[in-house]
Amino acid sequence: MGRYLLENATILTGEYMEEGILSVDGDRIGGIWLKKDLKEGTPSSPIPSEGYERIDLGGKILLAGGIDAHVHFREPGMTGKADFFTESRAALLGGITSVFDMPNTNPPTVSIEAVRDKKSMARGRSWTDYGFHIGATNSNAGIITEALRKGVSGREFAAVKVFMGSSTGNMLVDSESALGEIFSLKDVRILVHCEDEATIRENLRKACEQYGEDIPFTLHPVIRSRKACIRSTAKALETAIAKGTALHVLHVTTAEEAEMIRAAKIHNPLITAETSANYLLFTDADYSSLGAKVKCNPSVKSSRDREALREALRDGVIDTIGSDHAPHLLSEKDAPYRKCPSGVPSIQHSLPAVFTVCMEEDIPLTRIPSLFSEKAASMFGISGKGFLRPGMDADLTVIDKDAIFTVRKEDLAYKCGWSPYEGMTFSAPVQTVFLHGEKVVGDGHITIPSPTGKELLYR
Ligand SMILES: [Zn+2]
Repeated sequence: MGRYLLENATILTGEYMEEGILSVDGDRIGGIWLKKDLKEGTPSSPIPSEGYERIDLGGKILLAGGIDAHVHFREPGMTGKADFFTESRAALLGGITSVFDMPNTNPPTVSIEAVRDKKSMARGRSWTDYGFHIGATNSNAGIITEALRKGVSGREFAAVKVFMGSSTGNMLVDSESALGEIFSLKDVRILVHCEDEATIRENLRKACEQYGEDIPFTLHPVIRSRKACIRSTAKALETAIAKGTALHVLHVTTAEEAEMIRAAKIHNPLITAETSANYLLFTDADYSSLGAKVKCNPSVKSSRDREALREALRDGVIDTIGSDHAPHLLSEKDAPYRKCPSGVPSIQHSLPAVFTVCMEEDIPLTRIPSLFSEKAASMFGISGKGFLRPGMDADLTVIDKDAIFTVRKEDLAYKCGWSPYEGMTFSAPVQTVFLHGEKVVGDGHITIPSPTGKELLYR
């Protein structure tokens, strides 16, 4: 295990952005010394000098490694599209050091045995640290309740995912009593995908009547409509307020949902929300140019919604960024609307993309560590992660805020080999990444021979 002094860093946390020095002692953060404190002559402890490899970061930004609590790595069951090895490697290159995989795999992750199976598949094959969410069904609330009795430290999954409305994977929870049981679970966060199934079915029926099998992709936001999102999110928020649920609304896409969440947080401070870079970058106009490549659920909405989401990012109504990395092969995407699967790969550029949005909108950069690591670490009770503080795991990401880069196909690490961001220019390329104190990415390339990710633990 190495000892490093990361000097001349711009240290970025949810609370400050300051020039300083950070030391790495083995797998942990040793200390942090800010230049402004050193000037005042009151450093809390002396900066170590002997036995440390000094790395000059040249003023680049140093932040905690990203925690992405919303990925679909497709394993087991769909490893032709993606797998834990390939996608976690892409995550690491994107400055993400911990991921939580969603349960809509095949078989779906709806039992403790299935969670354990996924852990054994990830073991030794994940380049990032990893954890799993369990999926709710109409009938497994009992299993989840039983598993939660072990207490937080014995927990085998991070949170419970509920599809309130169908998505890929067929884990729809549509029984009122099942929803009531799940929303009543204590000491665990409930993640919801909110799109009202009845509304979507009716919209799809109308589109089929009009276009037959030749539905244009520009109709995706009409079929998976604003109303479907608002209806489902309203119901989730109402239930969460009534039952005191620790609700996390995934991939918020409309201005109305952002407003509802803002209001709901006043009644239930345990309510949190996520959006993904896709919804901060694209608008419904992109369906005419990118078509299937931006077909994702929920759909991308209007430019007005994008503006509202950017504001919600600024003011904290949005708590976390999840990439919702959901790869499919281009050959699968090359299908008529109804046969074309929803979901897009994104994890390699989630951090630079959101960084770019923050720069464009003049959103304080301190929002970034909050969105990418701190809030998720707190919400899911992840042990030793998420914050730049002495004693925490030395999971660190270095980005160059003054550089720009264009996403090129040949630089993508995804098994599927494409990205809807190809050709887009972003700020803040990821230069260096440390995982448990080991340098795992340097100059934008993986520097270790094999994966070193570990299972995440809860406290
Ligand atoms: Zn998802």
